Amino acid sequence: MAKYVYFFGGDKAEGGESLRNLVGGKGAGLADMVNLGIPVPPGFTITTEVCTYFYDNDTAYPDGLKEEVAASLRKVEEIMGMKFGDPKNPLLLSIRSGARASMPGMMDTVLNLGLNETTVKGLSVLTNNEWFAYDCYRRFVAMYGDVVLGLKPQTKEEHDPFEEIIDEKKKARGVTLDVEFTVEDLKDLVARFKDIIQSRLDVTFPEDPEEQLWGAIGAVFSSWNNDRAIAYRKLNGIPASWGTAVNVQSMVFGNIGMDSGTGVAFTRNPATGENVFYGEYLLNAQGEDVVAGIRTPLPINKMQKGNGSMPCLEEEMPERYAELLKIRQILEKNYRDMQDIEFTIQKGKLWMLQTRSGKRTAFAAFKAAVDMVKEGLITKEEALMRVDPEGLNQILRPIFDPKEKEKALKEDKLIAKGLNAGPGAATGKVVFNAEDAESWAAGGEQVILVRIDTSPEDIRGMNAAQGILTSRGGMTSHAALVARQMGKVCVAGCVALDIDYKEKTITVKDKKIKEGEYISLDGATGEVFVGQVKTLPSEVLRVLIDKTMKPEESTIYKDFELLMQWADEARKLGVRTNADQPGQAAVALAFGAEGIGLCRTEHMFFEGERIEAVREMIVSEDIEGREKALAKLLPIQKSDFVGLFKVMNGLPVTIRTLDPPLHEFLPRTEKEIHELADKMDISFEKISAKIASLHEANPMLGHRGCRLGIVFPEITEMQARAIFEAACEVKNGGIDVKPEIMIPLVGHVNELRLQKDVVDRVAGEVFGEYGATLDYKVGTMIEIPRAAITADEIAEVAEFFSFGTNDLTQTTFGMSRDDAGKFLGYYVANDILEYDPFQRLDEHGVGKLMQIGVELGRKQRPDLKVGICGEHGGEPNSVKFCHRVGLNYVSCSPYRVTVARLAAAQEAIKQGSNK
Ligand code: ADP
Ligand code: MG
Ligand code: MG
Repeated sequence: MAKYVYFFGGDKAEGGESLRNLVGGKGAGLADMVNLGIPVPPGFTITTEVCTYFYDNDTAYPDGLKEEVAASLRKVEEIMGMKFGDPKNPLLLSIRSGARASMPGMMDTVLNLGLNETTVKGLSVLTNNEWFAYDCYRRFVAMYGDVVLGLKPQTKEEHDPFEEIIDEKKKARGVTLDVEFTVEDLKDLVARFKDIIQSRLDVTFPEDPEEQLWGAIGAVFSSWNNDRAIAYRKLNGIPASWGTAVNVQSMVFGNIGMDSGTGVAFTRNPATGENVFYGEYLLNAQGEDVVAGIRTPLPINKMQKGNGSMPCLEEEMPERYAELLKIRQILEKNYRDMQDIEFTIQKGKLWMLQTRSGKRTAFAAFKAAVDMVKEGLITKEEALMRVDPEGLNQILRPIFDPKEKEKALKEDKLIAKGLNAGPGAATGKVVFNAEDAESWAAGGEQVILVRIDTSPEDIRGMNAAQGILTSRGGMTSHAALVARQMGKVCVAGCVALDIDYKEKTITVKDKKIKEGEYISLDGATGEVFVGQVKTLPSEVLRVLIDKTMKPEESTIYKDFELLMQWADEARKLGVRTNADQPGQAAVALAFGAEGIGLCRTEHMFFEGERIEAVREMIVSEDIEGREKALAKLLPIQKSDFVGLFKVMNGLPVTIRTLDPPLHEFLPRTEKEIHELADKMDISFEKISAKIASLHEANPMLGHRGCRLGIVFPEITEMQARAIFEAACEVKNGGIDVKPEIMIPLVGHVNELRLQKDVVDRVAGEVFGEYGATLDYKVGTMIEIPRAAITADEIAEVAEFFSFGTNDLTQTTFGMSRDDAGKFLGYYVANDILEYDPFQRLDEHGVGKLMQIGVELGRKQRPDLKVGICGEHGGEPNSVKFCHRVGLNYVSCSPYRVTVARLAAAQEAIKQGSNK
């Protein structure tokens, strides 16, 4: 018989990490902790298989589930010495979601379940604490009303309806905190909550604990498909088929007096990655108070509070703090990773409620991974696997220019200070809800999303914003958590701000900031400024590129360098860059590029006066005219190559011959045409006619690539001459040069043969003139399907291949990138395509052609060097694919070189192969 329920509690648990797919992350963590001897309230996990069944069978449950649940519940009752639904000694339960991959706050939880008009009285007598019993009750009714019965805000301006009633009550009673309510206030809240549920939803709040239990279980399963969970899954690539587990667990109470409390902590700082215990807690509170960011919590230890005057757990409950420190160590050792933990203290006893691998900024992931290698906790390979290549770019993000910040301070632009919840610098216009953030951002605006407390519903808006600012909630609020994972700048718990959603204003002291005004957030310090503050490059860039900082002055840089060194040891793929200018090439070299994989010569044609010579060449009617114009271009192009070869200092430089259709170089406006006509002493009409004659219906498939060099060999000739003259000169000057001439858009071997003949002939001529020789290669781009499937024929001539996957994607799909915007977005949104093939390589189609190309090419020429130079060369998934099909190198834009190096290392480690 199938097993649907796994028990944990006492000193033994059935589940654990090895059963994560069945019991989910939360269930696995709870079970592991029980088996590690850490105190955990007893409970049981209903598996993800039940969730799948639930969705496949119109929300029904499999046979036998009810019995298994009842049996497990009896075990919990036994351990706790209480009974579910008992009028005198009622056991209360928490019903919690928990998928395989953690999705913080995206699904639902119900606490204090089992309370009704009878059991609440029992609880109150039992604990001799009526206030506590009714505090639990009002929490339960609100949570159940929201999660299970579905009472939500009706407009985007409305706050949570239960919270609104609480706020009203506070105003009427002249108090500011929940803990200041009297028992009568709490009873009144329960009544009002039930009323609003009755009047708005037309349902009576269920009294029967059994009905409550199954209502909550069903709601948690259903929450797998709520909007925010779906949005989160999309952003994080979690399949909808996984489903969630449900954890049913005995409640423990942090709201039973000042010797009780609840908190959340990270075993290391989740924003910076530093090896310090980092957390927050509240006394006399339940977990949601900390997590949901309703009250701003207190720092866990002395170190964290700095010179603040507030209390901290280390001082208030030194023994519990010491116990937590011990658990911190046990967990880090067990999981060999930073953990995010939840705990509750009930009358001086510590209970652990959750442990999971902590969400962290890419920055912290990088820092913690490098540290853990130094601490001997993990290997270099493990460290490399833990850093998201895409996220590595966070380290390169700008920060505020200290001088500009000082100026802003002097000008009194600092309006408030909150918690430094997500590092980085962000500037944008203020918006007050997620919907506006999305639509403004879609309109090209940079926005800062300002919320009292963000709820998980806001994730799409958070994703669209440059930064997030909240007036409530701490470092561990969902807002902060999700922001960090997204790599967003976040300042949380900025209590000085009075935020009004309806008026769309922030009031702080005597200042008022309206929607659409600029503010700036420093996520590293928690500072909030009005207006825009200028930024400065990150430390890594200052060391590597600007050279305004010495390597030894920056710890970040040193750790970065170390990680990249490990990556280089591990990877097999070479990493080159796409660069056309010496400056770009120098940047790429600083980032670790090992050559140029694509130099687009046409970029050199646009600058300054060159374009005139180019135009003259195009407009010329005969070969003499063209050669005259090309003669003007030759020295310019040659000097470009000299610069590039010098910077590359002996590394390979792949130069592509002219690729775009000629009309791209011609003037468009009448004024420009007149100017060109005057300059060339040709009539306006004649030039206009020339432009018209060059017009193409499908320029992407038109007269471009090698087709230009074949019809006008003098163009290729000039380019080859410029390359070889430059190479000979640089070489004679004592610098090694490795040019690789690449012919674009070849579909048939004869095309390549013709162009190679021209290149080889010119090489011979130039070598004769200079009395020098050097090694060079002539190869081709593979960017037409026909080239891929006749790669063996092409490799008879080509000495190397480079996949031009931008064009290869266009020609394989038969879609033009310029026009695809009209339908590609729809395709991706509706899962017709899993992702945009122009951003991430389409492995099944385009990738298949690459595979064929590599195989056939190497069959003909076993030592054939093969690379990729499309945009995909810097996208981690595509880089990993390139490793798998056996390419020699990827080539990407300078700022993606480090991303590619790390992605290549990860795939090499994964495939278990080392250099
Ligand atoms: P999430 O998926 O948002 O982390 P949880 O299931 O962890 O949701 O529940 C949210 C909060 O409810 C927890 O942080 C915890 O403080 C509180 N909580 C959950 N289970 C219990 C319990 N058994 N006793 C007391 N508090 C609980
Ligand atoms: Mg939790
Ligand atoms: Mg191309």
